[in-house]
Amino acid sequence: MTASFTELGLSQELLKAVEDLGFEEPSPIQVLAIPALLTGKDAVGQAQTGTGKTAAFGLPILEKLTSGKGVQALVLCPTRELAIQVSEELSKLAVHKRGVSVLPIYGGQPIERQLRALAKGAQVVVGTPGRVIDHLQRGTLRLGDARIVVLDEADEMLDMGFREDIELILEQSPADCQRVLFSATMPQPIRELSKRFLREPEMLTIAHKMLTVPAIEQVYYEVRPYQKMDALCRVLDSQGFRKALVFCATKRSVDEITVHLQQRGYQADGLHGDMNQTQRDRVMNRFRTDGIEILVATDVAARGIDVDDVDAV
Ligand code: AMP
Repeated sequence: MTASFTELGLSQELLKAVEDLGFEEPSPIQVLAIPALLTGKDAVGQAQTGTGKTAAFGLPILEKLTSGKGVQALVLCPTRELAIQVSEELSKLAVHKRGVSVLPIYGGQPIERQLRALAKGAQVVVGTPGRVIDHLQRGTLRLGDARIVVLDEADEMLDMGFREDIELILEQSPADCQRVLFSATMPQPIRELSKRFLREPEMLTIAHKMLTVPAIEQVYYEVRPYQKMDALCRVLDSQGFRKALVFCATKRSVDEITVHLQQRGYQADGLHGDMNQTQRDRVMNRFRTDGIEILVATDVAARGIDVDDVDAV
Protein backbone atom coordinates (compact mmCIF):
# COMPACT_ATOMS: atom_id res chain seq x y z
CA MET A 1 0.00 0.00 0.00
CA THR A 2 1.76 3.18 -1.15
CA ALA A 3 0.37 6.64 -0.80
CA SER A 4 1.78 10.07 -0.18
CA PHE A 5 1.00 12.42 2.67
CA THR A 6 -0.35 14.92 0.13
CA GLU A 7 -3.20 12.55 -0.75
CA LEU A 8 -4.51 12.27 2.79
CA GLY A 9 -6.38 15.56 3.01
CA LEU A 10 -3.96 17.45 5.25
CA SER A 11 -3.28 21.19 5.17
CA GLN A 12 0.01 22.78 4.07
CA GLU A 13 1.08 23.55 7.66
CA LEU A 14 0.92 19.90 8.62
CA LEU A 15 2.49 18.66 5.38
CA LYS A 16 5.38 21.03 6.03
CA ALA A 17 5.85 19.62 9.55
CA VAL A 18 5.83 16.06 8.23
CA GLU A 19 8.44 17.12 5.65
CA ASP A 20 10.56 18.75 8.40
CA LEU A 21 10.48 15.53 10.39
CA GLY A 22 11.77 13.69 7.34
CA PHE A 23 8.85 11.28 7.00
CA GLU A 24 8.93 10.14 3.38
CA GLU A 25 5.58 8.45 3.15
CA PRO A 26 2.72 7.63 5.51
CA SER A 27 2.85 4.33 7.34
CA PRO A 28 0.00 1.83 6.71
CA ILE A 29 -1.92 2.83 9.84
CA GLN A 30 -1.56 6.50 8.84
CA VAL A 31 -2.94 5.79 5.35
CA LEU A 32 -5.96 4.14 6.94
CA ALA A 33 -6.52 6.34 9.95
CA ILE A 34 -5.88 9.89 8.76
CA PRO A 35 -8.71 10.11 6.17
CA ALA A 36 -11.04 8.12 8.45
CA LEU A 37 -10.47 10.35 11.47
CA LEU A 38 -10.78 13.52 9.39
CA THR A 39 -14.40 12.57 8.66
CA GLY A 40 -15.14 12.91 12.37
CA LYS A 41 -16.33 9.34 12.79
CA ASP A 42 -15.49 7.21 15.82
CA ALA A 43 -12.81 4.61 15.18
CA VAL A 44 -10.94 1.68 16.68
CA GLY A 45 -7.36 1.26 15.49
CA GLN A 46 -5.32 -1.84 16.06
CA ALA A 47 -1.70 -0.77 16.00
CA GLN A 48 1.41 -1.34 18.05
CA THR A 49 3.96 1.22 19.18
CA GLY A 50 6.38 1.92 16.36
CA THR A 51 3.75 1.82 13.62
CA GLY A 52 3.39 5.60 13.50
CA LYS A 53 0.08 5.60 15.36
CA THR A 54 0.80 8.87 17.17
CA ALA A 55 0.85 10.84 13.92
CA ALA A 56 -2.07 8.71 12.70
CA PHE A 57 -4.35 10.27 15.31
CA GLY A 58 -2.24 13.39 15.93
CA LEU A 59 -2.43 14.84 12.43
CA PRO A 60 -6.26 14.66 12.28
CA ILE A 61 -6.47 16.18 15.78
CA LEU A 62 -4.31 19.12 14.71
CA GLU A 63 -6.07 19.49 11.37
CA LYS A 64 -9.42 19.98 13.05
CA LEU A 65 -8.41 22.50 15.71
CA THR A 66 -10.28 25.79 15.65
CA SER A 67 -9.23 29.12 17.13
CA GLY A 68 -11.15 28.51 20.40
CA LYS A 69 -9.21 28.61 23.66
CA GLY A 70 -10.76 25.66 25.46
CA VAL A 71 -9.47 22.08 25.44
CA GLN A 72 -10.50 20.68 22.04
CA ALA A 73 -8.70 17.37 22.14
CA LEU A 74 -7.81 14.96 24.93
CA VAL A 75 -5.42 12.03 24.49
CA LEU A 76 -5.22 9.49 27.31
CA CYS A 77 -2.02 7.44 27.69
CA PRO A 78 -1.13 4.70 30.18
CA THR A 79 2.19 6.13 31.44
CA ARG A 80 3.85 9.47 32.00
CA GLU A 81 6.64 8.51 29.58
CA LEU A 82 4.16 7.86 26.81
CA ALA A 83 2.21 11.04 27.65
CA ILE A 84 5.40 13.09 27.35
CA GLN A 85 6.45 11.33 24.15
CA VAL A 86 3.03 11.77 22.51
CA SER A 87 2.87 15.39 23.59
CA GLU A 88 6.33 16.05 22.11
CA GLU A 89 5.42 14.42 18.84
CA LEU A 90 2.19 16.43 18.59
CA SER A 91 4.10 19.65 19.33
CA LYS A 92 6.54 18.86 16.51
CA LEU A 93 3.66 18.19 14.13
CA ALA A 94 2.03 21.48 15.20
CA VAL A 95 5.09 23.75 14.70
CA HIS A 96 3.72 25.50 11.64
CA LYS A 97 0.23 25.96 13.06
CA ARG A 98 -0.13 29.25 14.87
CA GLY A 99 -1.09 29.43 18.51
CA VAL A 100 -1.49 25.72 19.13
CA SER A 101 -0.45 24.56 22.55
CA VAL A 102 -0.11 20.90 23.49
CA LEU A 103 0.12 20.15 27.21
CA PRO A 104 1.12 16.92 28.92
CA ILE A 105 -0.42 16.34 32.36
CA TYR A 106 0.68 13.34 34.33
CA GLY A 107 1.10 12.09 37.85
CA GLY A 108 4.47 12.77 39.45
CA GLN A 109 4.82 16.31 38.16
CA PRO A 110 3.96 19.06 40.68
CA ILE A 111 0.32 19.89 40.13
CA GLU A 112 0.91 23.66 40.48
CA ARG A 113 2.83 23.81 37.23
CA GLN A 114 0.00 22.01 35.46
CA LEU A 115 -2.58 24.32 37.07
CA ARG A 116 -0.79 27.37 35.68
CA ALA A 117 -0.39 25.80 32.24
CA LEU A 118 -4.05 24.75 32.11
CA ALA A 119 -5.14 28.22 33.21
CA LYS A 120 -3.16 29.71 30.31
CA GLY A 121 -5.10 27.45 27.96
CA ALA A 122 -4.17 24.42 25.85
CA GLN A 123 -6.10 23.14 22.86
CA VAL A 124 -4.64 19.66 23.14
CA VAL A 125 -4.11 17.88 26.46
CA VAL A 126 -2.23 14.58 26.68
CA GLY A 127 -2.61 12.97 30.06
CA THR A 128 -2.57 9.90 32.22
CA PRO A 129 -6.05 8.92 33.46
CA GLY A 130 -5.43 9.45 37.19
CA ARG A 131 -4.11 12.98 36.81
CA VAL A 132 -6.79 13.88 34.28
CA ILE A 133 -9.46 12.82 36.79
CA ASP A 134 -7.74 14.89 39.45
CA HIS A 135 -7.94 18.01 37.27
CA LEU A 136 -11.53 17.28 36.26
CA GLN A 137 -12.50 17.05 39.92
CA ARG A 138 -10.70 20.29 40.77
CA GLY A 139 -12.46 21.96 37.86
CA THR A 140 -9.10 22.97 36.39
CA LEU A 141 -9.72 20.86 33.30
CA ARG A 142 -13.05 21.11 31.50
CA LEU A 143 -14.06 18.94 28.61
CA GLY A 144 -17.12 20.93 27.50
CA ASP A 145 -15.38 22.08 24.30
CA ALA A 146 -13.69 18.73 23.58
CA ARG A 147 -14.31 17.55 20.04
CA ILE A 148 -12.16 14.45 20.10
CA VAL A 149 -10.97 12.03 22.80
CA VAL A 150 -8.32 9.44 21.95
CA LEU A 151 -7.47 6.43 24.10
CA ASP A 152 -3.89 5.51 23.24
CA GLU A 153 -2.75 1.98 24.17
CA ALA A 154 -6.19 1.27 25.58
CA ASP A 155 -5.32 -2.35 26.41
CA GLU A 156 -2.37 -1.18 28.54
CA MET A 157 -4.56 1.31 30.38
CA LEU A 158 -7.13 -1.37 31.22
CA ASP A 159 -4.37 -3.76 32.35
CA MET A 160 -3.08 -1.04 34.65
CA GLY A 161 -6.47 -0.72 36.31
CA PHE A 162 -7.59 2.56 34.75
CA ARG A 163 -10.94 1.23 33.57
CA GLU A 164 -13.12 3.26 35.93
CA ASP A 165 -11.09 6.41 35.39
CA ILE A 166 -11.42 6.05 31.63
CA GLU A 167 -15.16 5.48 31.88
CA LEU A 168 -15.56 8.53 34.09
CA ILE A 169 -13.57 10.68 31.66
CA LEU A 170 -15.55 9.46 28.66
CA GLU A 171 -18.79 10.16 30.52
CA GLN A 172 -17.66 13.74 31.11
CA SER A 173 -16.77 14.36 27.49
CA PRO A 174 -19.53 15.82 25.29
CA ALA A 175 -21.94 13.20 23.94
CA ASP A 176 -21.27 14.24 20.34
CA CYS A 177 -17.48 14.32 20.56
CA GLN A 178 -15.45 12.00 18.35
CA ARG A 179 -14.01 8.99 20.19
CA VAL A 180 -11.06 7.01 19.01
CA LEU A 181 -9.45 4.00 20.61
CA PHE A 182 -6.04 2.60 19.75
CA SER A 183 -4.98 -0.75 21.11
CA ALA A 184 -2.36 -3.34 20.19
CA THR A 185 -4.73 -6.16 21.19
CA MET A 186 -8.52 -6.44 21.20
CA PRO A 187 -9.48 -8.48 24.28
CA GLN A 188 -13.07 -8.61 25.54
CA PRO A 189 -12.80 -5.59 27.92
CA ILE A 190 -11.62 -3.40 25.03
CA ARG A 191 -14.50 -4.56 22.86
CA GLU A 192 -16.92 -3.79 25.71
CA LEU A 193 -15.47 -0.32 26.21
CA SER A 194 -15.76 0.33 22.50
CA LYS A 195 -19.35 -0.95 22.40
CA ARG A 196 -20.37 1.24 25.30
CA PHE A 197 -18.73 4.52 24.31
CA LEU A 198 -18.13 4.50 20.56
CA ARG A 199 -20.81 4.95 17.91
CA GLU A 200 -20.49 2.58 14.96
CA PRO A 201 -16.71 2.86 15.00
CA GLU A 202 -14.73 2.29 11.85
CA MET A 203 -12.26 -0.56 12.34
CA LEU A 204 -8.72 0.33 11.30
CA THR A 205 -6.57 -2.78 11.14
CA ILE A 206 -3.40 -3.40 9.22
CA ALA A 207 -2.58 -6.88 8.02
CA HIS A 208 0.56 -8.47 9.40
CA LYS A 209 2.95 -9.59 6.75
CA MET A 210 5.49 -12.38 6.95
CA LEU A 211 8.61 -10.67 5.74
CA THR A 212 11.51 -12.70 7.03
CA VAL A 213 13.53 -15.36 5.29
CA PRO A 214 14.39 -18.30 7.57
CA ALA A 215 17.99 -18.71 6.30
CA ILE A 216 18.94 -15.27 7.57
CA GLU A 217 20.33 -14.98 11.05
CA GLN A 218 18.63 -12.19 13.00
CA VAL A 219 20.14 -10.40 15.97
CA TYR A 220 19.09 -7.32 17.89
CA TYR A 221 20.94 -5.19 20.40
CA GLU A 222 19.33 -2.98 23.02
CA VAL A 223 21.22 0.30 23.16
CA ARG A 224 20.51 3.81 24.32
CA PRO A 225 19.98 6.37 21.54
CA TYR A 226 23.31 8.12 22.17
CA GLN A 227 25.16 4.77 21.97
CA LYS A 228 23.70 3.78 18.63
CA MET A 229 26.52 5.11 16.44
CA ASP A 230 29.23 3.39 18.49
CA ALA A 231 27.23 0.17 18.57
CA LEU A 232 26.72 0.27 14.80
CA CYS A 233 30.44 0.79 14.15
CA ARG A 234 31.37 -1.96 16.57
CA VAL A 235 29.05 -4.41 14.82
CA LEU A 236 30.37 -3.39 11.40
CA ASP A 237 33.99 -3.76 12.55
CA SER A 238 33.68 -6.99 14.49
CA GLN A 239 31.98 -8.88 11.71
CA GLY A 240 34.12 -7.54 8.88
CA PHE A 241 31.16 -7.01 6.56
CA ARG A 242 32.14 -6.03 3.03
CA LYS A 243 28.73 -4.81 1.99
CA ALA A 244 26.07 -3.67 4.41
CA LEU A 245 22.78 -1.80 4.29
CA VAL A 246 21.67 0.46 7.14
CA PHE A 247 17.99 1.41 7.22
CA CYS A 248 16.70 4.58 8.87
CA ALA A 249 13.17 5.90 9.41
CA THR A 250 13.83 9.43 8.19
CA LYS A 251 15.78 11.34 5.57
CA ARG A 252 17.42 13.37 8.30
CA SER A 253 18.78 10.30 10.06
CA VAL A 254 20.09 8.96 6.73
CA ASP A 255 22.11 12.17 6.30
CA GLU A 256 23.34 12.18 9.90
CA ILE A 257 24.43 8.56 9.96
CA THR A 258 26.09 8.80 6.54
CA VAL A 259 28.18 11.78 7.69
CA HIS A 260 29.11 10.05 10.97
CA LEU A 261 30.21 6.91 9.15
CA GLN A 262 32.22 8.91 6.60
CA GLN A 263 33.91 10.83 9.41
CA ARG A 264 34.93 7.55 10.97
CA GLY A 265 36.54 6.45 7.73
CA TYR A 266 33.92 4.13 6.29
CA GLN A 267 33.11 4.16 2.59
CA ALA A 268 29.48 5.10 3.16
CA ASP A 269 26.83 6.93 1.20
CA GLY A 270 23.14 7.70 1.65
CA LEU A 271 19.98 7.22 -0.35
CA HIS A 272 16.68 8.96 0.26
CA GLY A 273 13.66 10.49 -1.40
CA ASP A 274 15.05 14.03 -1.67
CA MET A 275 17.69 12.87 -4.15
CA ASN A 276 16.95 12.94 -7.86
CA GLN A 277 17.10 9.84 -10.02
CA THR A 278 20.61 10.58 -11.34
CA GLN A 279 22.01 10.96 -7.84
CA ARG A 280 20.29 7.76 -6.73
CA ASP A 281 21.55 5.80 -9.72
CA ARG A 282 25.08 7.00 -9.06
CA VAL A 283 24.96 5.87 -5.41
CA MET A 284 23.42 2.51 -6.32
CA ASN A 285 26.04 1.86 -8.97
CA ARG A 286 28.85 2.59 -6.54
CA PHE A 287 27.27 0.20 -4.05
CA ARG A 288 26.95 -2.53 -6.68
CA THR A 289 30.50 -2.13 -7.90
CA ASP A 290 32.02 -2.04 -4.40
CA GLY A 291 32.76 1.69 -4.43
CA ILE A 292 30.70 1.95 -1.23
CA GLU A 293 30.79 -0.52 1.66
CA ILE A 294 27.81 0.80 3.54
CA LEU A 295 24.62 2.13 2.03
CA VAL A 296 22.43 4.12 4.43
CA ALA A 297 18.85 4.45 3.19
CA THR A 298 15.24 4.98 4.04
CA ASP A 299 13.14 1.97 3.19
CA VAL A 300 11.25 4.05 0.67
CA ALA A 301 14.38 4.96 -1.27
CA ALA A 302 15.72 1.43 -1.06
CA ARG A 303 12.48 -0.24 -2.14
CA GLY A 304 13.06 -2.79 -4.81
CA ILE A 305 16.82 -2.37 -4.92
CA ASP A 306 18.49 -5.48 -6.13
CA VAL A 307 22.10 -5.94 -5.11
CA ASP A 308 23.88 -9.27 -4.83
CA ASP A 309 26.25 -10.26 -2.04
CA VAL A 310 24.97 -7.95 0.72
CA ASP A 311 26.41 -9.35 3.98
CA ALA A 312 24.24 -7.55 6.47
CA VAL A 313 21.19 -5.32 6.87
P1 AMP B 1 4.76 5.71 17.08
O1 AMP B 1 4.29 4.37 16.60
O2 AMP B 1 3.73 6.76 16.92
O3 AMP B 1 5.34 5.64 18.45
O4 AMP B 1 5.94 6.18 16.09
C1 AMP B 1 7.19 5.55 16.04
C2 AMP B 1 8.24 6.45 15.42
O5 AMP B 1 8.06 6.54 14.02
C3 AMP B 1 8.26 7.88 15.93
O6 AMP B 1 9.61 8.23 16.19
C4 AMP B 1 7.71 8.70 14.79
O7 AMP B 1 8.27 10.00 14.77
C5 AMP B 1 8.13 7.90 13.59
N1 AMP B 1 7.22 8.02 12.44
C6 AMP B 1 5.88 8.20 12.47
N2 AMP B 1 5.37 8.25 11.23
C7 AMP B 1 6.41 8.08 10.37
C8 AMP B 1 6.53 8.04 8.93
N3 AMP B 1 5.46 8.15 8.15
N4 AMP B 1 7.77 7.86 8.42
C9 AMP B 1 8.85 7.74 9.22
N5 AMP B 1 8.82 7.77 10.58
C10 AMP B 1 7.61 7.95 11.16
